[in-house]
Amino acid sequence: MAIERTFSMIKPDATRRNLTGAITKMLEDAGLRVVASRRVWMSRREAEGFYAVHKERPFFGELVESMSSGPTIVQVLEGENAIARNREVMGATNPANAAEGTIRKVHALSIGENSVHGSDAPETATQEIKYWFSDTEIVG
Ligand code: UDP
Repeated sequence: MAIERTFSMIKPDATRRNLTGAITKMLEDAGLRVVASRRVWMSRREAEGFYAVHKERPFFGELVESMSSGPTIVQVLEGENAIARNREVMGATNPANAAEGTIRKVHALSIGENSVHGSDAPETATQEIKYWFSDTEIVG
């Protein structure tokens, strides 16, 4: 199986509730290794840039508001099939549909405040890692 890297965020709704450690443990227990990590309070502009793909969606304003409302932990995760593995442990976007034991089932508050982000494909993983990290900040 391929060793991959993916981009992950622990969102402000989760850092506000002091869940950074609990969520990181769930990622690690799923076989993912944190190879880069930083705490950032993103500006509205950074949130708009990061989520530009969603700019025409009705929830865009709320998403930008929520992502710039407090600290986020941005991370690079590494492991076998890391992209799919991370999506699996995150659970469905809407916590009401998330499988038992997933991060969103256990911790998310709502579809908007759903605690974590994870890249959905190799191209987005590369792009998103680059948005937040330089090569020298990633230590595998
Ligand atoms: N989102 C929202 N309302 C929706 C759909 C999405 O607030 O109806 C937010 C939610 O925080 C989600 C993010 O927008 O995590 C990005 O949406 P996407 O469909 O890419 O979901 P994800 O990949 O995060 O599961």
